[in-house]
Amino acid sequence: MPGFRYVCQFHRDRFAAAIAGHGLDAEGIEDVRCALLAWLAENYPAMVLDHFNRKSCLGCGLREASIDLAPMYRAIGDAVARVKARRASAAAAR
Ligand SMILES: [Zn+2]
Repeated sequence: MPGFRYVCQFHRDRFAAAIAGHGLDAEGIEDVRCALLAWLAENYPAMVLDHFNRKSCLGCGLREASIDLAPMYRAIGDAVARVKARRASAAAAR
């Protein structure tokens, strides 16, 4: 599994489900995970910092705060599309 540190198993599974079916390899999955963390840090900086400091699951924090996750899922979809496009152009350049 990619480099989650404090994310609980439930939210690791949610992340895996969100990107399933795109045929990403481990490196691509890690790229999407990093893009998601960057997006969260940009949109919810205090929450990201707080969860790192407390070593608690950010996914659970978002759920407890009743935050609308639709934009986050769009960000995941965008990241998947970017990673796939980068791979495609890298493969074409070979
Ligand atoms: Zn969680």
